[in-house]
Amino acid sequence: MHYQKAKYLLGAAKIDQLPPDEGIEVAFAGRSNAGKSSALNTLTQQKSLARTSKTPGRTQLINVFTLDDNARLIDLPGYGYAKVSESTKQMWQQELSRYLQERQCLRGLVLLMDMRHFLKETDQQMLSWAYDVGLPVHCLLSKSDKLKQGAKAKALAQCKKQLKELHPEATVQAFSSLKKQGLDQLLAKMDAWYSD
Ligand code: GDP
Repeated sequence: MHYQKAKYLLGAAKIDQLPPDEGIEVAFAGRSNAGKSSALNTLTQQKSLARTSKTPGRTQLINVFTLDDNARLIDLPGYGYAKVSESTKQMWQQELSRYLQERQCLRGLVLLMDMRHFLKETDQQMLSWAYDVGLPVHCLLSKSDKLKQGAKAKALAQCKKQLKELHPEATVQAFSSLKKQGLDQLLAKMDAWYSD
């Protein structure tokens, strides 16, 4: 897939506003500040496809990017931002769960988690929704450049172990947008989903 061809199509506040449920979608999700926008920009080789921001929780829309006539990339709203009101949180939870559980063209979920703080409660919730409907998940442990080799190996092993309980088919890798580490592994996983 030519990810550098990604083009912004629309932002949907509700899943009813998404394009028709056809073709293939792969979605990116993660807690605010996990490095999701940076990963999308790294993947597509575009500096500002997804806005990276030091103010977490700004993205309140499901952003849709087209890759070709049949394939789309979905940037789901970052969750877990403390300053968002309870009612907004609940609305987004509902939209996220509906998107993951009802979207027929969704082939896989890339779950971004900071390598130093992975599998928080909200991440576990995402995995549980995905597991319920048999949706494949690939976890990216982001900002891996911040850890030394030993700590990285330990985090990966721990995450794998916990995933066995939460979503046994889920896969996991280390990733760094800053150092462009782990990109080939991510591309292989996504290409497989898009060619399914
Ligand atoms: P998002 O809220 O999940 O979209 O996260 P962003 O991509 O905006 O990143 C949040 C913060 O983490 C920003 O300050 C980024 O510069 C930083 N960041 C993202 N990816 C990396 C990475 O691979 N390495 C390092 N060291 N910092 C990163």
